[in-house]
Amino acid sequence: MASPQNLSELQFPIALVDELHELVDRPIRVMVICGTQTRALLKYSDEDILPEDLEIVTGPGCSICVMPAGHIDAFVKIGRQPDVITATCEDLLRVQGTKESLGTIKEKGALVEVVDSPMEALDLARKNPGKIVVFTAVGFEGAAPDVAETILEAASEGIDNFCVIPSIRLLPPSLDSLMSDPELNIRGLLCSAHIQSITDSQAYADLARQHHLSCAVVGFGIRDILEGLISIVKQIRSEKPVTTNPFNGVVQTEETIRNSRMMSEVFFAVETDWRGLGSIEGSGFVIRDELSIYDAIKRFNVRFIKGQEEIKCQCADVLSGRLTPDECPSFGISCTSKHPIGPCMVAQEGLCASYFRHIFGRF
Ligand code: SF4
Repeated sequence: MASPQNLSELQFPIALVDELHELVDRPIRVMVICGTQTRALLKYSDEDILPEDLEIVTGPGCSICVMPAGHIDAFVKIGRQPDVITATCEDLLRVQGTKESLGTIKEKGALVEVVDSPMEALDLARKNPGKIVVFTAVGFEGAAPDVAETILEAASEGIDNFCVIPSIRLLPPSLDSLMSDPELNIRGLLCSAHIQSITDSQAYADLARQHHLSCAVVGFGIRDILEGLISIVKQIRSEKPVTTNPFNGVVQTEETIRNSRMMSEVFFAVETDWRGLGSIEGSGFVIRDELSIYDAIKRFNVRFIKGQEEIKCQCADVLSGRLTPDECPSFGISCTSKHPIGPCMVAQEGLCASYFRHIFGRF
């Protein structure tokens, strides 16, 4: 049970903790999809805020964690081409492909720059007219509108030394595939607002209905998370699964309609590979033929092929909720935040990295 004294010192929503403890009257497994929400829960794990019968399992909600070796191999292959500048996020530098990473080719002299956004990559192209700037577009569906907007801006300005490796993923199809495994026995899904598809706000509701799941879409604070868990448990108790989403009222703004239009102008959905989850229909994006000059995969005639992943790494089981990171034999021994073996130990919101920081107090 929660320790009220410690928690009140932390200005903690004790009433929500108590309500949750009162409500959980049977064993319930809930998947927390987002790595940031998992981190928030881990922060309070010493305070026993969750009832014993409420089991939280981790999900595939970190876009770096689910990056398969084959996609890193494609980034590396293109990054090694003459006159190419790879523009990427910092985390990707440390994700290993079959033999190399973007970090190792950078050490050997390839031009690899860290950028914070696709627009920054486009600026790099404007400043380097003699080079081709290749942006590694990773993330979930929420990242897609910015990439689409950047491609449309490049096209409207006639900038032809800029292109994108599309490796953005849609979460609902991967969850659909996971939830089809009866062994996982997941009863509820806690989703975060930022991973919710802008173009398809119904996606989680459909998923919940199809798999008889209770589902809540909430923010990242501990109060939001507890409210989400309470909502899920109430739905299970009442045997009326619905998707609760405080963001429903705001999803159809002018901005989201514009985002949705840009995304359909630039991308369409295809099958793509996920680390640990295999190939999933309709879970990736490719760039439409009319804009193929901005598709680095077509421009450099490279294909995403299956890569060799480190056999000691158990990321596949961690990402599908079958294993907690500290159950991996390499965790904290040969795999640390300084020397990550798998992608789950790389990003801040990576599942193994979150556990590592929580258990060892360092990153
Ligand atoms: S601890 Fe390291 S090796 Fe083990 S699953 Fe996580 S990233 Fe992979």
